[in-house]
Amino acid sequence: MLWDYQQPVAIRFGNGRVREIKDVAAEMGLADGGLLVCERFFAKNGTAEKIVKDSEGAISEIFSDFSPNPDVTEVDKAASLIRSKHLKFVVAMGGGSAMDLAKSAASIALTNDSIAEYHGTGKAMPQEHLPIIAVPTTAGTGSEVTCVSVLTNRALGKKAPIVSDGFFPSVAIIDPELTYSVPPHVTASTGMDVLSQAIEGYWSKGHQPICDACAIHAAPLVFKYLPIAVAEPDNAEARQKMCEASVIAGLAFTLPKTTSSHACSFPLTNIHGIPHGEACGLTLDWFARINKDAQHGRVQEFARAIGFEDVDAMADAIHELKVKVGLRTGLKDLNLSAEQIADLVRISRHPNLYNNPVEITDEMLQDMYEHLAVTD
Ligand code: NAD
Repeated sequence: MLWDYQQPVAIRFGNGRVREIKDVAAEMGLADGGLLVCERFFAKNGTAEKIVKDSEGAISEIFSDFSPNPDVTEVDKAASLIRSKHLKFVVAMGGGSAMDLAKSAASIALTNDSIAEYHGTGKAMPQEHLPIIAVPTTAGTGSEVTCVSVLTNRALGKKAPIVSDGFFPSVAIIDPELTYSVPPHVTASTGMDVLSQAIEGYWSKGHQPICDACAIHAAPLVFKYLPIAVAEPDNAEARQKMCEASVIAGLAFTLPKTTSSHACSFPLTNIHGIPHGEACGLTLDWFARINKDAQHGRVQEFARAIGFEDVDAMADAIHELKVKVGLRTGLKDLNLSAEQIADLVRISRHPNLYNNPVEITDEMLQDMYEHLAVTD
């Protein structure tokens, strides 16, 4: 087996460390020209302004005019701001949406192109980019340690990741206290994304030993701490452990890449508005059962390594976790027509599907969506 491992992001983890943004910028020689791409919640509650003030001139602009699952037009807007103000670096503070927008804007700003030219088109991103300091506020996507930027083109009805080495942040500052304000349903959904990333990173065709170890570390933390973080948003231990799981699951999947559940999540989010993590979790136990005997027993080994008797028991536990944290386990409320199910099958045929260890046929997708369509 041949494998390479690379992780170029410096990680600073711990409560209160958001206050280190200015020190990190100074250490990187960035004395001025900073853009804070900031989750709206923190732009409104005064945190963004405080960060700008504390930066002593290093950060001069704030951009928070974007939506969850950011659109390519919003990336272009941020890039125009960078160009017009001759900005030199980007601090990306928010969930995956803020970080992914910031990553693409920090690259595309150095060209006169629209990001749409690179989104789902196969055209390689230019390697030049502004330095990025990533500060996640959800636990979460792990985007702070990945070279992925997931964008949506609402005009074309397309959601897809762009991958570029230029998207790796220079530094990730993970401060669990920033996640205390995440509402319970967002906590549940983003936490399910963590579990999906760990499990899919492990069984991906591109799996490798260092990422396997990360997946085995991250997954049990989600089973243990996600219900606590949902029920008690201020529980310091649960929030800290979910942030630990999130960044380590990010390391688990960024090289192997995600698989079937992520492939299916794109149309579920795009067409039916299901939040990203909830959409991934919706199919995770289904694919666990399909993949259970793949890779000469590796998936069974994973289930045992994280404390289950076998993959079926792990799949049952995924289902129970969804119920416990209030996530959907079916699509019955959507009253899907046969045509809508056919669309889900067709659009799930995303490149990530081909990383799944078992070949997923249209018939398998059809079975799964038909089952979900009648399940509460
Ligand atoms: P998000 O960034 O869209 O945020 C979800 C909601 O939570 C939003 O309404 C946001 O305003 C709110 N929010 C975020 N942080 C908050 C806080 N601390 N307090 C209060 N409210 C807060 O959600 P996400 O799940 O973090 O990111 C999802 C996006 O990331 C999707 O587009 C997904 O496809 C993408 N993603 C990217 C990667 C990657 O490697 N780049 C990996 C997985 C997913």
